[in-house]
Amino acid sequence: MENCAVKNAKLRQHPKSPSPKLTRKNLPKRAQNYSKEQLLHALKKKKECTAKAQIVVEKCIEKEVEESQFLSSLENINQCHYQDIVEERAIIKLCGYPLCPEELKQIPKKQFHISLQTNKVYDITERKNFCSNNCFKASNYLKVQLLTSPLWLRDVEDIPEFKLLKIE
Ligand SMILES: [Zn+2]
Repeated sequence: MENCAVKNAKLRQHPKSPSPKLTRKNLPKRAQNYSKEQLLHALKKKKECTAKAQIVVEKCIEKEVEESQFLSSLENINQCHYQDIVEERAIIKLCGYPLCPEELKQIPKKQFHISLQTNKVYDITERKNFCSNNCFKASNYLKVQLLTSPLWLRDVEDIPEFKLLKIE
């Protein structure tokens, strides 16, 4: 996850620099036997997908994110983009869950929490990105539904229906 976030941050800093050159060797397995024509088509699709995903990420770090628009844009991002959204929202002190407009107040500085009830140590790095346990749960509920495979290698029929965890 981290590598992915770092890579995206770098791409964002230099929006015009081309992404690392794609050759047959570093292609995902599924695309290694592509013909030249298929390869060119895939490259074009990759560019389009990257641009689309970037737009979704930028929209999702705004304070007010509209639910139906958000749901329909999820097919254009994968888990790695979603993690970027969560982290970028937290950096600008907004709750990491894109559908929550709450601001993050009193973010704990520590990384670990010791529970006196269970006598266990919890890493709260992820939890710190959210305003509440509910948002943390809702965010994880959504995140696991998102795809991890490269978007540009996906077929249209692979797109699942994303569900939100309703917060009472
Ligand atoms: Zn929240």
